[in-house]
Amino acid sequence: MSDRIEKLCVEKGMRMTEQRRIIARVLSEAHDHPDVEELHRRAHAVDPHISIATVYRTVRLFDEAGIITRHDFRDGRSRYEEHPETHHDHLIDMKTGRVVEFVDAEIEALQEAIAQKLGYRLVDHRLELYGMPIEEK
Ligand SMILES: [Zn+2]
Ligand SMILES: [Zn+2]
Repeated sequence: MSDRIEKLCVEKGMRMTEQRRIIARVLSEAHDHPDVEELHRRAHAVDPHISIATVYRTVRLFDEAGIITRHDFRDGRSRYEEHPETHHDHLIDMKTGRVVEFVDAEIEALQEAIAQKLGYRLVDHRLELYGMPIEEK
């Protein structure tokens, strides 16, 4: 839903300016974990008055409010995505930077078992795989 973030902001009592609304929509429509520069490029295409500083401030605001998720995929740039409706983990293609989403029931269960063995109830986790594509022969 392209207005999911916007709705969450309103629910949290955030003041929604037109520019924030545009940035929220761009984030909701993105499925590729864009960084601030890429978000700015997309928001700027909708409203050329949106500055990169505004995008920075807005994503920080959304992030602090727990409305979006920030990722650090080790390329020195923070990437953002809407909180997914269902859990997923990430594989980062180190050749192209492409981010592949996946979920594996075995890994999920294993992580819970490990936490339990250590005396914990697992409440959250992040899993990032970094890979080079296997060359086709
Ligand atoms: Zn997972
Ligand atoms: Zn993701």
